[in-house]
Amino acid sequence: MTVPEGCASDGFRAAGEASAGFGTAWSVSAESVSADSESADSAQPGSVLAGTALENAAKHVGKWHDFAPSDANRGPGIPYKYSNNPYAGQWDGRTLSSGIIADYKRMVMTDGEGIRNSLYVSGCPFRCEKCWNSSIWDFRAGKPYTKELEDSIIADLEPDYIQGLSLMGGEPMLNTPVLLPLLERVRETYGNAKDVWSWTGYTWEELMRDGETGDKARLLSYVDVLVDGRYIEEKKDSLLQFRGSSNQRIIDVKKSLLAGRVEIWEKLKDQKRFIPEISGKERAAGEGAN
Ligand code: SF4
Repeated sequence: MTVPEGCASDGFRAAGEASAGFGTAWSVSAESVSADSESADSAQPGSVLAGTALENAAKHVGKWHDFAPSDANRGPGIPYKYSNNPYAGQWDGRTLSSGIIADYKRMVMTDGEGIRNSLYVSGCPFRCEKCWNSSIWDFRAGKPYTKELEDSIIADLEPDYIQGLSLMGGEPMLNTPVLLPLLERVRETYGNAKDVWSWTGYTWEELMRDGETGDKARLLSYVDVLVDGRYIEEKKDSLLQFRGSSNQRIIDVKKSLLAGRVEIWEKLKDQKRFIPEISGKERAAGEGAN
């Protein structure tokens, strides 16, 4: 699918309390991020709970894979029976990313607040049921991210009417080799004049847990607004703003890092009624009949 809506505005959401155990990993400074990266590097994905993961996967062949059944730091509604559930540090974008993107679109009004430019990265191992973007689950699906494209993305942010850049996919947190250099350039060029939104299949709590890879923390340090969590078909709700299922949340990243708990984006405004339904009723009531 060219325009990924599963991990884009239509495929994500969540709600709930932050679980305990955040604060330590997430009072982020440049030093702590780099120290965290090193410790995460030394903790080989696959070395933790490997037996448990394999046993669990074997039990649920063809269904779901809860790789961390004993992990208490989960977001609401996770694990979900139809998506993969990684243990901390199991998936590492530094090795998974192929540097491939699915699409890049200018002047989009559905991927966050205002008029934005959106980059859709390829690759997502969550594999949520009914994901709208299953065509780009493969990290090699799409086209190579190039220096020329990066230059264009930076230049395209310049007009005053462009509020910022949106990252979706696919899984941005597992495409850090592409996105970290890009976001560094965005901040170098525009400071905080442009905001960055990112969607992710990870919950906030999963990103905060001990043992998660440091590149995710670093990416998050450049993000202003995060829409978190898997897409859960049973929680699908068309009235939600910028997300697809009610477990997903629109999170103010900086406020949340400072507070040590999830702080919801203060401009959140879900619809009360389904607009096509309202229009249908108005038409049925005679509106438009000359
Ligand atoms: S997190 Fe789920 S909905 Fe989003 S791209 Fe991945 S599989 Fe699709």
